[in-house]
Amino acid sequence: MSIAKADLQGALKTYFGFNTFKGLQESVIKSILDGNHTFVIMPTGGGKSLCYQLPALMQEGTAIVVSPLIALMKNQVDAIRGVSNEEGIAHVLNSSLNKTEVKRVKEDIVSQKTKLLYVAPESLTKEENVEFLRSVKISFMAIDEAHCISEWGHDFRPEYRNLRHIIGRIGDNIPIIGLTATATPKVQEDIIKNLGISGAKTFKASFNRPNLYYEVRPKTKNVDVDIIRFVKQNEGKSGIVYCLSRKRVEELAQVLQVNGIKAVPYHAGLDAKSRSSHQDMFLMEDIDVVVATIAFGMGIDKPDVRFVIHHDIPKSIESYYQETGRAGRDGGEGHCLAFYSYKDIEKLEKFMSGKPVAEQEIGHALLQEMVAFAETSISRRKFILHYFGEEFDNAIGEGGDMDDNVRHPKKKTEAKDNAKFL
Ligand code: ADP
Ligand code: MG
Repeated sequence: MSIAKADLQGALKTYFGFNTFKGLQESVIKSILDGNHTFVIMPTGGGKSLCYQLPALMQEGTAIVVSPLIALMKNQVDAIRGVSNEEGIAHVLNSSLNKTEVKRVKEDIVSQKTKLLYVAPESLTKEENVEFLRSVKISFMAIDEAHCISEWGHDFRPEYRNLRHIIGRIGDNIPIIGLTATATPKVQEDIIKNLGISGAKTFKASFNRPNLYYEVRPKTKNVDVDIIRFVKQNEGKSGIVYCLSRKRVEELAQVLQVNGIKAVPYHAGLDAKSRSSHQDMFLMEDIDVVVATIAFGMGIDKPDVRFVIHHDIPKSIESYYQETGRAGRDGGEGHCLAFYSYKDIEKLEKFMSGKPVAEQEIGHALLQEMVAFAETSISRRKFILHYFGEEFDNAIGEGGDMDDNVRHPKKKTEAKDNAKFL
């Protein structure tokens, strides 16, 4: 199928109200409309959803979108319904639907009303769903958060490993679109291999975030005071503080509150109601700071998060990049401050010791990269981008001066010694 550029732009305007495509979106969409297997690697916030939503809306049949999180799927379905004013245009198929709801979804698909069907991977393994999907017209399959397929990714989900097999059962020549914000070469290889899309047209955007300032500070026993000071210096701005454990999240949120900072905790141990109310308070700016475990953030679209603090160093550079990436999405200021002590690395190593050996080895390798990043004396941006397979020449306009090592050069040995003695 060939669709003129003007038509694509018209469709973008009609469906989403945007005037221009972002980054590689247009080329990706053309590749999908041409029926290619397509692989999209774009940082978070790069606009990956639109890459499959728009061609799905433009084509005959239903696009199946596999996504790991029900909340994410619901947001997207609501957004699509909002722009088209047609409820049947997008649906989620999952185990929480009752019989009547499932029937409605199926009817809308059969009558070709539904252009986007979001499913969790475990719903796709259900025989009755596979049987049904075999019988209808599928435009393509989009695998969002495709890194979930890889043990080298930050969010491995075994169910993702079955996808290729299931897609094969649904149809013979269904184009497959993989999308991820994980740029490491190992994860990319895994995705291509597991989805069986070796000939895929690949589109990779730059992972540079020029407006983010990266800083790593030694973590001392006064880390709470350091965090309070930082937050107070940034009064009225929105920020996230990541901690490793739920307990630490609760404690630190309280410490911040006691010190007059509008902060709330967020972690998976809170009930759903508190979680969603805390998230809303953050989005509505009733509070300034969310102290959270990594349970917070995926799919949260707050453009003006001004700082992301890591009270504990993350377990990999991907995690660090994802979490810091929630700052400055609007292109404005975004300060990424991580506190680092080698003791925390030992703690993370210890957590892993109960896991299967293969997993431990991967975990260890990823963690060592994190150590190297924390202790490096070269440009942090250069380090991150190199890790993602990109060369960076420290150009100023592209954020070349936006990290502590470039602004305040220090000797590597000095940095290492410091860290060891904390
Ligand atoms: P990703 O999945 O890559 O993290 P999203 O698909 O969630 O990114 O998109 C991030 C944001 O960018 C969303 O708010 C979306 O509405 C916006 N966006 C996407 N494409 C465009 C565009 N062409 N013009 C303006 N905004 C866009
Ligand atoms: Mg996305």
